[in-house]
Amino acid sequence: MKNLKKLIIITGPSGVGKGTVVKELLDKDKDIWLSVSATTRSPRMGEKNGENYYYISDEKFKDMIDKKEFLEWAQFAGNYYGTPLSTVNEKIEMGFIVLLEIEVEGAKQIKEKFPEALSIFLLPPSKEELEKRIRNRGTEKEDAIKKRLSRANFEIASSDKFDFVLTNHDVDETVKGVFKIIKS
Ligand code: 5GP
Repeated sequence: MKNLKKLIIITGPSGVGKGTVVKELLDKDKDIWLSVSATTRSPRMGEKNGENYYYISDEKFKDMIDKKEFLEWAQFAGNYYGTPLSTVNEKIEMGFIVLLEIEVEGAKQIKEKFPEALSIFLLPPSKEELEKRIRNRGTEKEDAIKKRLSRANFEIASSDKFDFVLTNHDVDETVKGVFKIIKS
């Protein structure tokens, strides 16, 4: 892997607003490229293969782990998620700033292996607000919501392992904060 200062990890609990923040970053800066992860979870309504994720089987995921084709991978709420290594390398070499929007365990793996990558942890204003955001999103059933919330407690406890922590009160302010970090 080359020039890992160009690798930016956005992490934080499910529902904190990572996706919305990332969308704004991509709209505002065409030098940023978002990595498309592979997952074993089923597509949600409106999600597209190759755009939101590569939706693959458990067997294929395990095969990719064996072949060391992931930069990192983790199990989250009953499914596997991983960052394909080859495209990340390719885009860094092309000069893009490569953004990963991933959960906390995978982000920790990258920080341990590549400390020069830049990591930003998004915190919710409160646990109550996080629950409200997950519920308002309306994409998960009750048992999946419960899994995500219980994991959030433990994820929030490791926010100090990352380079920067931003509280996502307001998307525009958070996006400004991320740009300030990237450009500095
Ligand atoms: P969701 O099912 O809501 O799309 O994603 C669940 C969690 O997995 C989110 O926190 C998301 O950021 C994270 N995630 C997505 N792709 C990856 C990946 O490639 N690796 C890891 N470690 N987490 C991922």
